[in-house]
Amino acid sequence: MTEKMSRKDFLKAAGASLMIAPLALEDLDSGQRSPVQELGKQKGVAVDVRRCIGCKACQVACKAWNKLPAEKTEITADGEYTNPTYFSGITWKIVHFKEIGDYDNEVEGTGGLKWRMMSDNCKHCMEPSCVSVCPSGALWKRSDGPVLYDVDRCIGCGYCTMACPWGVPHFDDEIHAIRKCTMCHDRIDQGLEPSCVSVCPTDALKFMTLEEAKRTATEAEAHGLYTYGLDEVGGTSWIFVSDVPFSEFGLPEYTSVTQKGYETDLLVKFAGAGLFVGGALLAAIKLYAERRESIAKEGGD
Ligand code: SF4
Ligand code: SF4
Repeated sequence: MTEKMSRKDFLKAAGASLMIAPLALEDLDSGQRSPVQELGKQKGVAVDVRRCIGCKACQVACKAWNKLPAEKTEITADGEYTNPTYFSGITWKIVHFKEIGDYDNEVEGTGGLKWRMMSDNCKHCMEPSCVSVCPSGALWKRSDGPVLYDVDRCIGCGYCTMACPWGVPHFDDEIHAIRKCTMCHDRIDQGLEPSCVSVCPTDALKFMTLEEAKRTATEAEAHGLYTYGLDEVGGTSWIFVSDVPFSEFGLPEYTSVTQKGYETDLLVKFAGAGLFVGGALLAAIKLYAERRESIAKEGGD
């Protein structure tokens, strides 16, 4: 039995996510080798929503590896278990929880409902909008997959947050720059899996080559399952498979939208905002000029 198998078996037995955190921390530094040793090859992560048990070990591991502080969370009025519900400069990983009508499963006594959970983060797009809008060149796509950034080059304009189809990058007040998931590029460089993948006790997250991730999703699609990331906005390095539509987790549908189409839409919005601001500015200048003229006529100062 491999070291990885033993750890996962132990995690399965341990069960509770509170127990998983310290184990994950210990394991992250143990120098395990990932199954993807071919450095330079495009990497991908296959996410299988059906396997996720919502333990949030991935969330904890992300915080631990990237030394991110805890986020103040709250229980929402509708009993939402997704917590936090949003990405921020210090929350790079979210686990969406959704109770869904399970009409095929009524006989099993689930009351016609089932839970589905989805581990979510920056999807490391093939043609990232965040990269293309950044005016200071602070973001870039690495040839093997991760979309990275240089905090020293970030000017804090927030265009990447607006441009990202999922609102992933966020400004961090502490470091005065945007921050987001880096796909654990520092671990990949050492032949390791991203930290979230390495602790998932059910293999809901699997690190592989992009080619394998795409093949896994294409096969799932052929069996009637839903996929996300094969085509969306030009394709992504994190590819998701589910037995329920991704709209259940609040993910927008971009199935027929290419990255270019998405960006054109975005430009129209930016242009619209620009025209509005420009129009308001012109109106203010006109008012100011008229007021000056009337004061001058009245002989005022
Ligand atoms: S998901 Fe958003 S932040 Fe991540 S690479 Fe794509 S556009 Fe950039
Ligand atoms: S993806 Fe894995 S580690 Fe994350 S919540 Fe689901 S089962 Fe737990």
